[in-house]
Amino acid sequence: MELKLYDTLTKEKRAFVPLDASNVRMYVCGPTVYDFAHIGNARPVIVFDVLFRLLRHLYGEKHVTYVRNITDVDDKINDRAARDFPGLPLNEAIRKVTEQTEKQFHADVDELGCLRPSAEPRATEHIGEMRAIIEKLIANKNAYVEQDHVLFSVATDQKYGSLARRTLDEMLAGARVDVAPYKRAPMDFVLWKPSKPGEPSWPSPAGIGAPGRPGWHIECSAMADKLLWEDVKATLSSGQNYPHQFDIHGGGIDLVFPHHENEMAQSCCAFHQSRMANVWMHNGFLQVEGEKMSKSLGNFVTINELLTMDTFGKKTWAGNVVRVAMLKTHYRQPIDWTIKRLWEAEDQVVQWELLVDRIIEPLNNPSLMLKVGEPDREVMEALADDLNTHRALDRVHHLANEVRREPERLPFLISTLRLLGIEFSRPYGSNPANARRRDLMEKVGPLIMARESARARKDFAESDRIRDQLAAMGIAIKDGKDADGKPVTTWEVAR
Ligand code: AMP
Ligand code: ZN
Repeated sequence: MELKLYDTLTKEKRAFVPLDASNVRMYVCGPTVYDFAHIGNARPVIVFDVLFRLLRHLYGEKHVTYVRNITDVDDKINDRAARDFPGLPLNEAIRKVTEQTEKQFHADVDELGCLRPSAEPRATEHIGEMRAIIEKLIANKNAYVEQDHVLFSVATDQKYGSLARRTLDEMLAGARVDVAPYKRAPMDFVLWKPSKPGEPSWPSPAGIGAPGRPGWHIECSAMADKLLWEDVKATLSSGQNYPHQFDIHGGGIDLVFPHHENEMAQSCCAFHQSRMANVWMHNGFLQVEGEKMSKSLGNFVTINELLTMDTFGKKTWAGNVVRVAMLKTHYRQPIDWTIKRLWEAEDQVVQWELLVDRIIEPLNNPSLMLKVGEPDREVMEALADDLNTHRALDRVHHLANEVRREPERLPFLISTLRLLGIEFSRPYGSNPANARRRDLMEKVGPLIMARESARARKDFAESDRIRDQLAAMGIAIKDGKDADGKPVTTWEVAR
């Protein structure tokens, strides 16, 4: 099966050929750990988890290395630490903030069915590697020292702007560029800056007296190069080199410029390479109920809130439901994160789970041998087509119908769901609220659907009859419109 991936750099979908099939290397920019991860942050985590699973399936579990960094040095972290722990020395407060946030991030994305990457380097553990790259860039004259800062000189990189596909003038017009006295040209960006007293600091690159800290972009250049090549570096004798390139670099679309453009410039210039990554992949943006998510609009939705609090849609949502809701849309398209989307995902997930639950018992019976199935071929093909998870989930829906008719096919459904990261090992019904809901889903779901189709064909007598039937069961329904203006019915237990 040929895997095809869309590359932001060349703007084409092309066959994926790993540089080294015995170790496919992928790097994805991870979280800055100062606050709960929001549902937009969950998108790259879920999308690249699907890709990680697919690569492991195609090349073998031991033949894929996935590195996702943790940014634990950042002004936002310093501000949060000072605000939340005013009595503590800043460095101690920072450690508290980053440790807590990292733990929460892991708990959240584990619940979304995401595998842990092969390595999750923290920026503060790799400052030495960052400094080494900065020193190379200074020696190559791609970077200069000015007022205790080190800046990358974009004029020295002919390819600068090729990822964002913008000229320097266009970048200047579109970007909020900090004008600073230590910059020779406005687009030059910081590789290293001085720290204020009390802020985290490390010995600076050669030629700078005062201690300081790295800029954000250099972190990823250093950690990708350090951690993706560990296996090969261990076998090299002195003087031998390694390619300093890797297969896939991922992140959200907002990172293309300036973050990835700058990473690419740093890595290519420091290591004298024509490319940093073979394929650049970017997920589209997520908005909430038709609006850009922001704290000031009050529509900021965290992963944790969806999973554990009754705020978005007045109920909690299982991790599998959030995952399916995310994967219903192709990763490069924008997503509108709505309550309706979650309801639809929940309908599907509950049906799959009921099917698995109902059939698994007889299949576990030793007289019926449960074979581990290969994932469904059509699902694999959809995923291999630039991660077409929308098509893959449609096919899973059909597969579930097939299993209803032929229960022996269940192992194929289970392994297909597993490839998509949907597992039912933690029973959905173990949460009492969900158990009750699940019970109701079975009864209410088909009635709501029957009523929706009655309404669609303007059979209002039938739709009223179903409404009364639901009311008699203690279920209140509400007819409204979704963001596209289409009619939508929601329900809740009448109080
Ligand atoms: P940050 O912590 O802001 O650097 O973001 C971590 C990751 O989440 C990056 O890959 C971002 O591109 C991604 N991301 C942040 N906000 C959104 C959003 N609203 N939609 C999709 N991806 C996002
Ligand atoms: Zn990065």
